[in-house]
Amino acid sequence: MLISKPVAGAGFAARVLNLVDSGIVVVDSQQDIALWNSWMVPRSGRSAARVQGQPLFDVFPALRGSRIEAAVLAALTEGIATTIPQSQERTPFPLREAGSFDGALIEQAVSVTPFSDDGERCCMIEIRDVSGSAVRERKLMDHAESLRARSYVDGLTGIANRRHFDVALERELRRAQRADGDLSLLLVDIDSFKAYNDHFGHQQGDSCLTTVAQALASMLKRPADVAARYGGEEFAAILPDTSLEQARAHANAIREHVAGLALEHAPAAVHPMVTLSIGVASFEKDRLNEPAALIEAADKALYAAKRGGRNRVVADGDGS
Ligand code: GH3
Ligand code: MG
Ligand code: MG
Repeated sequence: MLISKPVAGAGFAARVLNLVDSGIVVVDSQQDIALWNSWMVPRSGRSAARVQGQPLFDVFPALRGSRIEAAVLAALTEGIATTIPQSQERTPFPLREAGSFDGALIEQAVSVTPFSDDGERCCMIEIRDVSGSAVRERKLMDHAESLRARSYVDGLTGIANRRHFDVALERELRRAQRADGDLSLLLVDIDSFKAYNDHFGHQQGDSCLTTVAQALASMLKRPADVAARYGGEEFAAILPDTSLEQARAHANAIREHVAGLALEHAPAAVHPMVTLSIGVASFEKDRLNEPAALIEAADKALYAAKRGGRNRVVADGDGS
C-alpha cells in the first residue's frame, strides 16, 4: 500500500513560487492577472496587489499585437503551449534589472503554458532573465576561440609551436604529393646554446631564443611558409613550392641574417656570436614522402652541419 504525504497547502506553493528565480505570471480565461510572483515586483515596478485582477494587456500595453499576446491567446483558446526564445524577441516585457528605473531592459526567454483550474482555462507565463547568460555565452565563446588560437602558438617565442608544425607538415606533404610539387624542410639549431645559458643565465637565454625565432619568422615571406619552434633551442621551417637547392640558398640567407645580428655569445661557445646550424631536406615522391622520413633526413643533415663545425647549412645527400 502506498502512503502519500499530505499535499502542501496553497500558501506553501505560493511561498515557493516567490523563491523562483524567474517571473511567474498566471492569467485567467479573461486575460486578467491571477498570480504575480515576487520576481516580477522589483523588475516591473509593480506590486502584486496593484496588478491583481487587472487585464495583462492593460498593465503592459506594449504587449498588444506581440508574439506574447499571440501565445497567450493560443494557450487560452486552443490549449497550446509556446516557447519564445530570446533569439526571437529579446525584451518583450518592459522589465529592467531589479531596482533600476532607467537601466537596460532585461533580455528574456518566455514560455507560455496552458492549464485548467476548476474547468477554467488559464495560462502560466514564465519569464527568464537571459541577459547574463547571453553575456556569459559570448565570453565563453571568445575564451574558447582564444584558447584554440593559443594552443597552436609557442608561449615563449610567439611563433608556431610543435603541434602547429606537425599539422602543417602533414598538410603540406599531402599537397606536394597531390600536385607532384616541391616542399622543403629546414631544421635549425642554435650553436652552443648550453654555453649561452650557462654564461648569461636562463632568462637571457629565453630572450635570445625569442630574438632568433622572430628573426627566422621574418625571413619567411610567403604566406604558406611556416616557422615553428620544434623544441628547446631548435626551430623548423616548412617551405612549400621550394626545391632542395632553393631551400639551401634560403637556409644560408637565414644563417647569415642571424649571424649578422651579432648577438654576443658565451666565451665557451664555438663562435663568438650566436650562430645557427641548419639541416635541409626535400620531399621526394618515393623516398621522403612521410613526415617522419623527411624530419629524419633534415635531422641527419643538421647533425652533419654540427660535425662540420657549426654555423653552416648541410642539405640531404651532401657528401654521400
Ligand atoms: P650544439 O651547438 O651542439 O647545438 O650545442 P648546444 O649547447 O646548443 O646543444 P645542447 O642540445 O647540448 O643544449 C641545448 C641547450 O638549450 C640546453 C638547454 O639548456 C637549452 N634550452 C632548451 N630549451 C630552452 C629554453 O626554453 N630556454 C632556454 N633559456 N634554454 C633552453
Ligand atoms: Mg644547439
Ligand atoms: Mg639542440
